[in-house]
Amino acid sequence: MSSLFPALTGDRTDRPALRFGDRSLTYGELAAATAALAGRIGGAGRVAVWATPTLETAVAVVAALEAGVAAVPLNPRSGEKELGHILSDSTPTLALAAPGDELPPPLRDLARMDVVPRTTEGGALLDTDVSAESPALIVYTSGTTGPPKGAVIPRRAVTSTLDALADAWRWTGEDVLVHGLPLFHVHGLVLGTLGPLRRGGSVRHLGRFSTEGVARELNDGATMLFGVPTMYHRIAQVLPEDPELVKALSGARLLVSGSAALPVHDHERITAATGRRVIERYGMTETLMNTSVRADGEPRAGTVGVPLPGVELRLVEEDGTPLTSYDGETVGEIQVRGTNLFTEYLNRPDATAAAFTADGWFRTGDMAVRDPDGYVRIVGRKATDLIKSGGYKIGAGEIENALLEHPGVREAAVTGEPDADLGERIVAWIVPADPQSPPKAEELADHVARRLAPHKRPRVVHHLDALPRNDMGKIMKRALHG
Ligand code: ATP
Ligand code: MG
Repeated sequence: MSSLFPALTGDRTDRPALRFGDRSLTYGELAAATAALAGRIGGAGRVAVWATPTLETAVAVVAALEAGVAAVPLNPRSGEKELGHILSDSTPTLALAAPGDELPPPLRDLARMDVVPRTTEGGALLDTDVSAESPALIVYTSGTTGPPKGAVIPRRAVTSTLDALADAWRWTGEDVLVHGLPLFHVHGLVLGTLGPLRRGGSVRHLGRFSTEGVARELNDGATMLFGVPTMYHRIAQVLPEDPELVKALSGARLLVSGSAALPVHDHERITAATGRRVIERYGMTETLMNTSVRADGEPRAGTVGVPLPGVELRLVEEDGTPLTSYDGETVGEIQVRGTNLFTEYLNRPDATAAAFTADGWFRTGDMAVRDPDGYVRIVGRKATDLIKSGGYKIGAGEIENALLEHPGVREAAVTGEPDADLGERIVAWIVPADPQSPPKAEELADHVARRLAPHKRPRVVHHLDALPRNDMGKIMKRALHG
C-alpha cells in the first residue's frame, strides 16, 4: 500500500500543512521531517507516541505511518496505572516525544528522539510490503464505560473513513481546520490531523481550546472547526456577548461535533446566534466514523445523520431481529459492517469475539432510532443510558436535553437506579446555573413531564459542582453512583 498522504510527494510543497502555536511546517518540510524520522524508526515493532498537542506528535504519527510501523498514541495525562497497562498491553519498542517533555519512568527506558530533525535529508522510505490490512494505529478507547481497550486499526480503515468523510463533507485541500482537541483519540488524531493531511489541506492547532482561538482562526481564513460537545457548550454560552465569535462561526464552511451527543439546547442557541447548523457525526475508536449529517444534507438537531459511503448500518432488537423499516420510534442497537472497522482488541480475543455477530456485524453498544428517511438518532449507550422504568424503556439523552432547557440547569446527566416499584427510577444529576438557588426537584420533574411525558420525570435530583468528565469531555456515568 502506498503512502496515505499523496500531498507529501505532490508538486505544491510550499503549501502550509501543520501549525501548532507559532511553529509550522509546509508540505515540503513535513515530507523531509517524516522521511528522516521514518528512516530511523522503520523496522521498529510498535512506536509509542507521547501525544501532547504538539507538532512533534503529528510528525511522529505521520512518520510511523510512512514507515509502515504501528503508532500507539499515549494520553500524557494518563495515570501511572493506566499508562502501565497500555505499555504492557501494546509492548512498544520505541517511544517518541518532543524534546523537553517530562516523561514518566516507564517511558524513560524507551529510546527518546528529536522528532523534528534539524537536517532535512532523507528519502521516501515507505516499506512496499506494508499491506492495507497491516495495523496503522493502536488507539485505546476513551474508557467511558470501563478500562480502555486497545483497538487495532488497519491502514485501510483510516483511508476508508477519511475518504468517506471527504465525500460527505465536500472536504478538500482548500480546507483549513481549527483544531483544539487532544491527539490521542480518533477524533483529534485521525479526523483532525491525518484527515486534513490526506486531503492536502492544513491544520491549525490551538494547543488548548479557547473560544478566542476559534474566533481568531476562523476570522483569519480557517474554514472548518471540529469539536466535542463541551466546546460547543462553551461557544453557545459566550456567543451572545462575542460579536467576533458570531462573525467567525457565521463565516465558517463547516462546524462539526462528535465524540458524544451535542445537546439540542446548545445546538439551537448556536443556530439562533449565527444562523449556522452544527453537523453531527457518530463514530467510535473501533469503527472510526459510521454516520454523519452530509454537508449538502438537511441538518437536524439531535441526529447524527446517515451512514457514510461504504458503511452498512442496521438497528437490531433485543432478540437479535434487525428492524426492516424505520418509524422514528423503535429503539434498536446499532450494528455496523464495512471497511472502516478495526480488526481486533489487542490481546483480548474474548472481547473481540463478543463484539461481533456470527455474520460479521460489529455490535456498537449504542442504541438508536431511525427516522423514516434513514436519519439516525442516538438514544444512548445500552449499558448506561437506557433506563427500564415502570415497563418503559427510556433514553437518558432526551431527559438530559429537556433538563438543559431549564434556565436553572447548566449541565445535566441522567441515570437509572434500582427501585422496588418501578424496576429502575430516573435520577438526575445537575450542575445548577446559580449554585446559591438551585431549581427545586419538583420543579424540574414538572418541567420534564410537561416537555416529554409524566413517566420520564426524574424521581431524584442531585446537585453537583461539576459532572465527572474524561479528557474528551464525556460524562463518566459510572463515576456518578460512586
Ligand atoms: P469505552 O469504550 O472505553 O467505554 P468510549 O466508548 O467513550 O469509551 P470512544 O470509542 O472514544 O470510547 O467513543 C465512542 C462512543 O462515543 C460511541 O460508542 C458513542 O457512545 C459515543 N459517541 C460518539 N459520537 C457520538 C455522537 N455524535 N452522539 C452520541 N454519542 C456519540
Ligand atoms: Mg466504547
